[in-house]
Amino acid sequence: MNWKTTNRAALASLLAIAAVCGNLAGCAGSSQSTSSAAETTPAAETTTAAGAVKDGTYNATGTGFGNGDVPVTVTIEGGKITDVTVDAGTQSDGYGKDAADGLAQEVIDGQTYDIDVVSGATMTRNAVSDAVKEIMTEAGYDMDAIAAAKEESKGEDETVDTDVLVIGMGASGSVAALKAAESGARVLGVEATETLGGMGNAAQGMFAVGSVEQKDRYGEDGETTDEAYWYNHFQERNNNMGNSKLIRTFISEAKNTVSYMLNHGVGFFLSKQPQQIAHFDTETVYHRWNNADPFTYIGQALDDNGVEIRYSTTATKILTDADGNVTGAECTKEDGGTLTVNAKSVVVSTGSFANNAALMKEVLGEEVYSNAMVMAGAELPGVDMMWDIGASRG
Ligand SMILES: Cc1cc2nc3c(=O)[nH]c(=O)nc-3n(C[C@H](O)[C@H](O)[C@H](O)COP(=O)(O)OP(=O)(O)OC[C@H]3O[C@@H](n4cnc5c(N)ncnc54)[C@H](O)[C@@H]3O)c2cc1C
Repeated sequence: MNWKTTNRAALASLLAIAAVCGNLAGCAGSSQSTSSAAETTPAAETTTAAGAVKDGTYNATGTGFGNGDVPVTVTIEGGKITDVTVDAGTQSDGYGKDAADGLAQEVIDGQTYDIDVVSGATMTRNAVSDAVKEIMTEAGYDMDAIAAAKEESKGEDETVDTDVLVIGMGASGSVAALKAAESGARVLGVEATETLGGMGNAAQGMFAVGSVEQKDRYGEDGETTDEAYWYNHFQERNNNMGNSKLIRTFISEAKNTVSYMLNHGVGFFLSKQPQQIAHFDTETVYHRWNNADPFTYIGQALDDNGVEIRYSTTATKILTDADGNVTGAECTKEDGGTLTVNAKSVVVSTGSFANNAALMKEVLGEEVYSNAMVMAGAELPGVDMMWDIGASRG
């Protein structure tokens, strides 16, 4: 990412908005995937319920993370998809690259382009889905019939009531849900992927000033634990364009998040090796986990506190009453059925927009961010849902 751009302060504000609830600062992402025209070498034709499908080996290229090409090759024999190859060479190590084989297998198993959202690899998933959809269209599949069949086979609709609905059980949402449950609320979390923690799973630690670790090592005074010093430091680095209220909250709350996580079993140590540029000069403030997976602990605590989590469930619309008060949300379940949640409070913690090139351009006025790290659910309607009910775009 280009932190030298004059717009980085505005970008930092955007990222801080995504991170402030969980007090995790770093990278973010989202954008649309598109696929290029399919090249085909079709042969025999099989008439199936899904249309007059031509056998052959087809190629199409989807656009994945960082606008990288994701070429996909699909072999169709006897009207069935028998082989899929995904070349994820342009995608991220540990995320898109690792997901490629599983995505290919999902296409074969389901005989469909409509594959699951994968935590940390949503853009790669979208690229594959777009490319396979294009290939299936090219091969003669009746896409309308497929859509109709999907609609017919979808699961039961259901309605549930809860005190607090948390949409997006990533770094922020999982902790928000836990805190609400610990305060005595009945909590339901909906999460688009199958994983707790969202892109928090990519983080190796977090920024914090004034934590117990710092005070143990450096005492009470000095710039290391001084919130005002770090506020000025952030603002200076951002050409004084940062959102002061947000940055102050972020800085003053981080130590409480460290304490909260310590109380839930997550260990920290002050690391001399922050893993990314967002934590420059921060060997005194970068608190690295000293156990591998903080969300195992948070997940256990969520369980212990009776939080229900619906995985593979995507919120699509925030519900309001006649006066515009938020009353819940409409979600799509893995089986396609609709889950309507009536809730007294709704937390939207869907992260995920810095890799949305169009949105970043709209906000920042120029192309600045073509290689943002991808965020889980990057293409999902989190921000749009809020705009749809009148949230400020500012
Ligand atoms: C590679 C990488 C390394 C990083 N390293 C660090 C680090 O070392 N330290 C640090 O502080 N930060 C780091 N970050 C940043 C940190 O991960 C994010 O700031 C943090 O995860 C943001 O939390 P969040 O809850 O806003 O979003 P996320 O953690 O991304 O959670 C959002 C969740 O919402 C879900 N979702 C989205 N839309 C919907 C919907 N409509 N319905 C249901 N669910 C939905 C998503 O699937 C996701 O699980 C890193 C980020 C990346 C990508």
